[in-house]
Amino acid sequence: MNFKFTDNSIYIVPNSLKLKLLDLLSKDRNIYNITFISLEELEKHYFFDIKEEALLYLLDKTNENIDVLKLMLKKLYKIDITKEYRETKLNNLKNLYFDLKDNNYLIFDKGYSDYLLTKNIFILGYGMLEPYQKDMLDSINTNYIEITSSISIDTVYKYHSMKDEIISTALKIRELNTKGISYNKIFLAGVDNSYNFLLKTIFSMFDIPLYLKSTNKLTSIISVKEYLKDKDINHIKDNSLKAKITKINDDLTYAKDSKYYDILLKEKLENTTLDNNELIESVKVLNESLEIPYLVSDDEYLFVLGFNQNYLPKIYKDEEYLSDNLKRTCNLNTSTIKNKLSKDNLIKVLGTIENLTISYKLTSLTGEYAKSSLLNEFNLKEVDNLHYNYNYSKDFNNYRVSNVLDTYYKYHEKDKDFDFLTTNIDSSKYSSFDHKFKGINRPITPYSLSYSSIDDLAKCPFKYYLKYILKLDSFEESFSTKIGNIFHSVLKDSYNNNFSFEESLNKALKDNTLDSRETVLFKRLEKELKIIVDYNKEIEKRSFLTEFYGEKRLEIPLSNHATLKGFIDKILFKPFHDKTFYAVFDYKTGSATLNLDYLSEGLYLQLPLYIYLINKSNLFNNPTFVGFFYQYLLQNYKDSEEQLKNLKLVGYTTDDKIVLSYLDEDYETDSFVKGLSIKKDGELSSRSKVLSDSEVEDIMNSIHKALDKSLKIIDNNDFAIAPKIINNKNISCEFCPFKEVCFVSASDYVYLDKKEGESNA
Ligand code: SF4
Repeated sequence: MNFKFTDNSIYIVPNSLKLKLLDLLSKDRNIYNITFISLEELEKHYFFDIKEEALLYLLDKTNENIDVLKLMLKKLYKIDITKEYRETKLNNLKNLYFDLKDNNYLIFDKGYSDYLLTKNIFILGYGMLEPYQKDMLDSINTNYIEITSSISIDTVYKYHSMKDEIISTALKIRELNTKGISYNKIFLAGVDNSYNFLLKTIFSMFDIPLYLKSTNKLTSIISVKEYLKDKDINHIKDNSLKAKITKINDDLTYAKDSKYYDILLKEKLENTTLDNNELIESVKVLNESLEIPYLVSDDEYLFVLGFNQNYLPKIYKDEEYLSDNLKRTCNLNTSTIKNKLSKDNLIKVLGTIENLTISYKLTSLTGEYAKSSLLNEFNLKEVDNLHYNYNYSKDFNNYRVSNVLDTYYKYHEKDKDFDFLTTNIDSSKYSSFDHKFKGINRPITPYSLSYSSIDDLAKCPFKYYLKYILKLDSFEESFSTKIGNIFHSVLKDSYNNNFSFEESLNKALKDNTLDSRETVLFKRLEKELKIIVDYNKEIEKRSFLTEFYGEKRLEIPLSNHATLKGFIDKILFKPFHDKTFYAVFDYKTGSATLNLDYLSEGLYLQLPLYIYLINKSNLFNNPTFVGFFYQYLLQNYKDSEEQLKNLKLVGYTTDDKIVLSYLDEDYETDSFVKGLSIKKDGELSSRSKVLSDSEVEDIMNSIHKALDKSLKIIDNNDFAIAPKIINNKNISCEFCPFKEVCFVSASDYVYLDKKEGESNA
């Protein structure tokens, strides 16, 4: 890259290009008075900056969704404040500007434009300028640095699959490295998240160090989710993560007392990603190199993967906050103009790269792809065969052996390398594969158990290993998880003084944003939720247990490195004389199993475990069991009578009738506990699910056993593939996400004795 700097100048460049230019500047023997600034920074000085507190001000004032408000704030520069618009959306933006200005949420840098006029101004690296940005740049006499560009390649590589594309790229990179090219001089572009898994797997087979910027949001970390529930920073064990969250908290000091604090905090955490440690030498993903010129120097190598239609060049659609029609009104680039700019810019930028390799794929595990039509304009020769080289990686060679043998035995097709691979590379492992868990060497680290992790461990220790030790399970927020969150949040709020259903629901909807389809579906559920809140208020008028804990977190130590924790939806209680009478409740928007027959195995522990936690913690003085219950919130019903019947509590109560009356004074005539009834002689009917004091004691002992057993399995790393079978039903594998990786067979099954009195709700 030939670049001549000019003294007394300001260079408007993206931050990544600034680093490249600083590098060039350090090699220049002259000394210059130069400032680098990004276009975004320039806009803040030239127009105005928006104070962070503005978002809180608008949340308070408008009751609008935080994402919509952020979008509106981003559009403020684009509105001509001197103009009268006919369109409400544009006028709203204009009003928003004046509102923020009048209330001192905008910062104006007076005199900055005059200062700019005393400088030489250059711009480079922005191929998608909006007309209003050009006007701004022209007003300060900006010089546009022209890019000289011509495509340096004559070949494009076509691959049947994403996997082949990555293997071939890895082979080419190993070849370069063998010739002495440092991995630091090799970059990848065009890869989105769909490439990550295969890139990591295949590059690690070839021992190619790869640096992928983390895209994991902080809110995807389990400890951060826990932290968000009660703001206890002790959930976060990792020091650098703790520092990050403390800093975010400090930045939000201005919102500490606001009811929107939680929303702002969640939003910030969602927009912060985890840092991956950068390696001393590694191949890096540099997707920006397709938009910003000169990020790749002449002695560096860029591999552009995924050169497919709709991906490269990037396609813009008319689906942004401001539609194309509105953009035309305020002189902004429409999607058609953006598509043209995007294509022109990509061609220019690719032309600045000396060592370029371009490839595209036709399939991936999730879809089919077409070649980018831009490649036809380049008129390149297509190469579509993958030349394997078996000199770089033993792991890869073994992988290829299993591949060609699979194809041979399953489809009777012989790969062209079959003879070479099966003669020269060890293929004995193919037929002697044993899927059994052979043990691991793992130091004991602190951990926490909950009813669900104990249940997973009891169902299959290998599942626990994959989920909690290797953390392979990914959490995806679905409509049903959002519904669960919304219902739980409103039901908790319903015990507050001055509870307003509408306000509480709005708050829950803000925390769990629904898209337009989900909003329509939720309308009916909103009415159901109101009925549930009213029903609970009504039945609880009959209870002596008038005190309440909502979403109560309890944690007790189990050993010097393990704790047991629980998060109880609802506890109703009453201190009376020297005892505290309590009942625990769990709201279910999905299904749950209530079965006390396998507690010592660690199965179906949830409600019993909650009373264990209450008994072992210091929550209550002399805790006295009254009952534990599920309340199923979303069941089918044919009329309102059945709807209310379905809301009755499902669970066990004490058999002490006096204590039982503390829960429901009408339990003899029409109890809100399902199945609880009285015979003519005044005794509890045999259908009633009741527990005597000694049975409660037995439950405590069974749980103690289950906890002991769980600790032993985890501390001894004894994670066998051992799914449980009860009454000929495999209760472990049906919904297990790891079916594809464990290769379970019938010889792994563990049959549990059938027990009487089993009940599945
Ligand atoms: S599929 Fe079954 S055997 Fe395999 S990990 Fe899951 S529970 Fe265990």
